[in-house]
Amino acid sequence: MPDKLAISFPHLGDYSVVFTQLIRHLFPDARVFPAPPMTQKTVELGSRYSPDFVCAPFKFNLGNYLEALEQGANVLVQTGTGCRYGYYGELQEQILRDLGYRFQFVCLSRERAKPAALYRHIRNLGCPLSFPRMAEAMLLACESIRAMDRYEYWMREQVAFETVPGSFEKVRQQLFADIAQADSLADLQKAKAKCRKASAALKTDPPQHPLRVGIVGDLYTLMEPFSNFFVEQQLIRQGISVSRVMGVWFLLFGKNHKQALKDSHPYLGYTVGANGVDSVAQSLAYAKKGYDGIIHMKSFGCIPELNATPALMNLSRDWDIPILHLSFDSHTSETGVQTRLEAFADMIRMKKEEGRIADSQFGRGYRFGVH
Ligand code: SF4
Repeated sequence: MPDKLAISFPHLGDYSVVFTQLIRHLFPDARVFPAPPMTQKTVELGSRYSPDFVCAPFKFNLGNYLEALEQGANVLVQTGTGCRYGYYGELQEQILRDLGYRFQFVCLSRERAKPAALYRHIRNLGCPLSFPRMAEAMLLACESIRAMDRYEYWMREQVAFETVPGSFEKVRQQLFADIAQADSLADLQKAKAKCRKASAALKTDPPQHPLRVGIVGDLYTLMEPFSNFFVEQQLIRQGISVSRVMGVWFLLFGKNHKQALKDSHPYLGYTVGANGVDSVAQSLAYAKKGYDGIIHMKSFGCIPELNATPALMNLSRDWDIPILHLSFDSHTSETGVQTRLEAFADMIRMKKEEGRIADSQFGRGYRFGVH
């Protein structure tokens, strides 16, 4: 075991704030740092040493590990289950060892991320906390994730209509900074109260009939904005209200596979792996709520989301709701994605306008055949 632990982990959106907070509490004497910020170099590094056929999360994570090792990390953390992601840790560890790096690899996916395995790894790494204090740190992390996800969910729906540019983001940054500093549930309560007060003062000026788009797809592509060229921000800049259910809180506590399968009826009769069923169930919910469009994002080669695609196409036809399917890999062109997004936004804007004219002339429910 090295003298001083230097613990690092791959990026997943801004959740590094909470992961850092948790590991800092569990290992007070360790140096804790997320992998360096994602750049094109991260992608190139990860892709260079990855098998060609793996999906993008493998390559991005491997790039993160390589950059973290170069920054002095001696403990790397990996977790995730649900699809072949559950096997990626084994391969990533072997690739890194073959490259000559020496490190400890906490591979939670090997044990299907079971709490008992997590406990054992934490103890093996020398966590000095008693069990109740360890549980407290975990609870704080979970509650922090809930606070982050709640604010971001609300923000995505509202921020396109803010009257003061950057005002929602400023509150978000403050909340995240307070979460990073929180050492107890009491600190977190104070951070949440401060955020509630600041949120109440935020002003929006939405149009009478705002465009609303739901986002579904594989968890990594959805939650790591670098991997999807910041699709949500691009939509928001075009004045669109964005909804996305997928987040870490949803994965940990909100996911109910049986319910999702029921909610995706009649489009799916059986599971299609990972979050494919959620993508269909959430899309159907967006269609029923009258959303103007759906964006289905996935990593290139993602089997669960590929399996869900025919169901989504049927749903799009039956409910007359446009669905844009976007696939991402390390070679995807950012300009190509931007062009498709702009075209999609224009199309749903025209469709909505034509639908409203039709409703006013012929009564609600009549639609021109725009698909
Ligand atoms: S859900 Fe899809 S993209 Fe994510 S690891 Fe599994 S196969 Fe890859």
